[in-house]
Amino acid sequence: MKRNFLKASLAGIALAVTGLSPLLAHAQDKGLIAISMPTKSSARWIADGANMAKYFKDKGYKTDLQYADDDIPNQLAQIENMVTKGSKVLVIAAIDGTTLSDVLQKAADKGVKVIAYDRLIKGSKNVDYYATFDNFQVGVLQAQSIENALGLKSGKGPFNIELFGGSPDDNNAFFFYNGAMSVFEPYLKSGKLVVRSKQMGMDKVGTLRWDGAVAQARMDNLLSAYYTKDRIDAVLSPYDGISIGILSSLKGVGYGSASQPMPVVSGQDAEVPSVKSILRKEQTSTVFKDTRELAKVTVAMVDAMLSGKQPEVNDTKTYNNGIKVVPSYLLKPVSVDASNWKPVLIDSGYYKESQVK
Ligand code: BGC
Repeated sequence: MKRNFLKASLAGIALAVTGLSPLLAHAQDKGLIAISMPTKSSARWIADGANMAKYFKDKGYKTDLQYADDDIPNQLAQIENMVTKGSKVLVIAAIDGTTLSDVLQKAADKGVKVIAYDRLIKGSKNVDYYATFDNFQVGVLQAQSIENALGLKSGKGPFNIELFGGSPDDNNAFFFYNGAMSVFEPYLKSGKLVVRSKQMGMDKVGTLRWDGAVAQARMDNLLSAYYTKDRIDAVLSPYDGISIGILSSLKGVGYGSASQPMPVVSGQDAEVPSVKSILRKEQTSTVFKDTRELAKVTVAMVDAMLSGKQPEVNDTKTYNNGIKVVPSYLLKPVSVDASNWKPVLIDSGYYKESQVK
């Protein structure tokens, strides 16, 4: 009796194990995906990495997620190591989009596929797909929030504005800037917008590594050189971390009071400190890019590639990396300000209200 029971239990366990094992084997068999992210200094990249690791796991992949501290040699070494470890696909958000050609050739020689994540990888034929947001539209949204807040469309002005760009080694920075300028151009021509410093063009307004401290120092200089008598009315900022630097500089010379209100300041990424700043009526707007969606699109691309299917793309014209046009999937960015932060950021489950209040 006892023996029979034991036999039956063992058989049950065996059944359970064999019953499960194909599933487990399947879950573990889909291979290793490498995710190379630029930095943890900005919350968006932390969310990007965590979301992708989760969705890849849900689909049965293992992941190797690395952050490179915004250091180019560090990212190169990490990617080489990822190739050596046998990753099937490299998902890369490059620090400098032009420095990866050699390592990507090594990857291609081993049959490793490459997805440029958020930022285009330039100068290499070994980039299979690009998953990103409509980067030109990000700049359009940033400029439109300034256009609306100043009332430019209804003919108000002239207003003084200064322009900040992103990191000149990041292709996105040019798209953001050009998108914004497409909105500002008629107002600059008509004189309704005036750049007193005359600093225009990415070669003059770029901010290396998107560094808020660098932007703050430049803003300090602009304020003391051009705005001791006249008020500055608006600042184009391409990224929340830069906006925070700009706002500190402005506060330093007295902006942000009833008699000297803050200029209109844009941003990007809907990072928590900037959402809080918007609620305090300091920063005017930001651009929300749902990193959950970008992660989903990327995971689906990888899964399709590895299953011999055609990944879904919706743009095959815009992103020429100097060697080829990289087939892309572009997601829609959303402008966020004091009027819509709740539905966009809270009701969507991206943040809890307690995080931003
Ligand atoms: C991203 C932005 C981000 C910036 C700084 C860009 O490549 O598209 O979302 O604000 O890098 O991290």
